[in-house]
Amino acid sequence: MRCLICESLSFKHICKTCQKDFLSPSFFKRKLLGKIPVYSFYKYQEIESLLLTKHTDLGHYIYTILAENSFLPFTKNFEFDTKVCSLSIDDRLYNFK
Ligand SMILES: [Zn+2]
Repeated sequence: MRCLICESLSFKHICKTCQKDFLSPSFFKRKLLGKIPVYSFYKYQEIESLLLTKHTDLGHYIYTILAENSFLPFTKNFEFDTKVCSLSIDDRLYNFK
């Protein structure tokens, strides 16, 4: 198949080079209500086109690649004193059933 970003031949929907160049995560931390920590890895604008694949046939593959590049390394490098819960946040729930 062809990489969605650079269109070179690739075994995944986004080639390893583009994953490294464009999907290396940054780490952002903020607090909701002054006490609930929220961690994120990308600015929305940077990956908006990828996020919009959510409700398409590609969505599963793209979200898997995003998770492999962001959440997986995060879980390997951070430890918490208490149990934590991971929630995805979607502010548009119109397709949620
Ligand atoms: Zn590529």
